[in-house]
Amino acid sequence: MALVAAVVVAAGQGLRAGGDLPKQFRAIGGETLLRRALLSFVEAPKVGLVQPVVRSEDLMLVRSLTGGMDVLAPVFGGATRQASVRAGLEALEKRNPEIVLVHDAARPFASANLIERAIEAAEKTGAAIPALPVSDTVKRIDETGNVAATLDRNSIRLVQTPQAFAFPALLEAHRRAMAQGRNDFTDDAALAEWAGMTVSVFAGEPGNIKLTTREDFARAEAIQSAALGDVRTGSGLDVHAFGPGDHVTLGGIRIPYRQALTGHSDADVALHALTDAILGALADGDIGAHFPPTDPQWRGASSDRFLSFAVERVRARGGRIAHLDLTIVCEAPRIGEHRDRMRANIAKLAGIGIDRVAVKATTSEKLGFTGRGEGIAAHATATVRLPWD
Ligand code: MG
Repeated sequence: MALVAAVVVAAGQGLRAGGDLPKQFRAIGGETLLRRALLSFVEAPKVGLVQPVVRSEDLMLVRSLTGGMDVLAPVFGGATRQASVRAGLEALEKRNPEIVLVHDAARPFASANLIERAIEAAEKTGAAIPALPVSDTVKRIDETGNVAATLDRNSIRLVQTPQAFAFPALLEAHRRAMAQGRNDFTDDAALAEWAGMTVSVFAGEPGNIKLTTREDFARAEAIQSAALGDVRTGSGLDVHAFGPGDHVTLGGIRIPYRQALTGHSDADVALHALTDAILGALADGDIGAHFPPTDPQWRGASSDRFLSFAVERVRARGGRIAHLDLTIVCEAPRIGEHRDRMRANIAKLAGIGIDRVAVKATTSEKLGFTGRGEGIAAHATATVRLPWD
């Protein structure tokens, strides 16, 4: 199979959408454009390498956004889009890909199918771009702003990305353009045409919109919100008893204590309750069904993997976690001082912002098993948004 690379360009200033961050760092549906754009390629089965191109001043931000993602180390863009693409191509040269897709981070909705068709088209023709027909009548205007001509809309197409090329040919064309002082190409197809390549066209996607203005962002947010309209709430409950030991693990955080929680895994009641809450929202069994306590491989296991598993089930269904709420019931240890570390850890495991994770604690007024200090209970709810099926 041909090695396919993707260059995702996110090196623009992009302030027209409002706010003080470039638009690639603005979120739609809780996910930044850049992360969404990168994920489309990371998750595409035929794409082997994903090369982000960013501004040097954004490096820290990009690193935190791409943590745990299977992307190459970011390279720095140039003054123009063309220079940024070239930087990405140069960085990929040593890996020798056969096909390269060039994509703008400002188009966060490219589908898996579009990416697949882009690769197929480039394998066939060496240079291919996605495009849409025009339904409006198209006019050319003169310098006074008056109509100079009515164009034949049947011969007009609106062009998108990802644009797909044979890698060596595109790299060569970029180097030649630079050597000849041409730095004004606004897309790679224009540069490829200039270099003498024949560029073929395949069907773009109406949903693969480019986000530039404040209105574009509002529209995209509305589309996303409607698409994930199947809102589910799941609940989870877990209990573990105290036994001998010197710490408990709650929400993945080690808390020194004169006892430990006993159980087959690390007995993290908080992560177990959260895992069940997410599985509950998906109506997808419970933690015991997916990780049987009779299975020796989960002995002493870190409960991170249980929560990550449930989070992955949400992702696999194209959904996202909107909110997690956890209540820990015990007389001791004290939870409050560890709350924010727990929230941060849970947020990281769930791939969501810390502002979507609540951790609360209560005693049971010395009543019941928690009141007698025999163990810890945890209740959780998860709000999950899924696409309508
Ligand atoms: Mg448990």
